[in-house]
Amino acid sequence: MTPRRRTLDPAECAGLIKNAGSVVALTGAGISTAAGIPDFRGPQGLYVTRRYDPEKVFDIDWFRHSPGDFYEFSRDLVEVVKDVRPTFSHHFLAELEKAGSLTAVITQNIDMLHQMAGSRRVVELHGSYHSATCLACARQHLELSYDWWRQAMTLASRPPVVACPDCGGTLKPDIVFFGEFVIGFGQAQTLVRQCDLLLVIGSSLQVSPASSLPRDAQGGIVVVNRGEVMLSAGSNRYFVEQDLDGYFREVAKHLGMAVHC
Ligand SMILES: [Zn+2]
Repeated sequence: MTPRRRTLDPAECAGLIKNAGSVVALTGAGISTAAGIPDFRGPQGLYVTRRYDPEKVFDIDWFRHSPGDFYEFSRDLVEVVKDVRPTFSHHFLAELEKAGSLTAVITQNIDMLHQMAGSRRVVELHGSYHSATCLACARQHLELSYDWWRQAMTLASRPPVVACPDCGGTLKPDIVFFGEFVIGFGQAQTLVRQCDLLLVIGSSLQVSPASSLPRDAQGGIVVVNRGEVMLSAGSNRYFVEQDLDGYFREVAKHLGMAVHC
């Protein structure tokens, strides 16, 4: 018989967090949808509404050959994220880190919302627009903001391919493309192995290799996600299918935490 998936109410979740020596969070697209960033693959996602082909947009060989497709997608994305603010759940994780309970956030998202909320230790498995590397001179450019990209793409020709400020070569944001290795996966594995409690938030655990991380967890796992999750039931695994912000608002109350958004 397949073991039944157990759920967990906010008070019990607060109890697990309180009793854990260290908590690690693994986050996916679901934590950012409430902020207004559509899951690229979802029904309102950019892949669908603007008809981008993810196989091309994020293919490293295609990018080297014709970076315009990726940059047209980026121009639209930067417009979408212009007014985006982190959600309650992002702020909740930042507060947990400040309180010393949370060791790190591992994220599949490239939207930088965890840093905007104040999280300090963030492992971005798929990278982000925060830095970029020149394909010609290999120099890495750091501390790039959405404003910087927006301006650079406005100044660029059509398609809006951004050139390296040093040599004029094509600049590639340090986002993980298909055909490239994820960033910091070893670090993520170590974090998951060493924590007492893994919170999986807004991820269906369908995208590899993040989907394999829960297997490394030695302690409890709490999955909070809307929709299907690719993780089997287990003795210390809990599954919550609820609105993330509503759920963590209750958890924060039980922890006596004030979360400022
Ligand atoms: Zn260069």
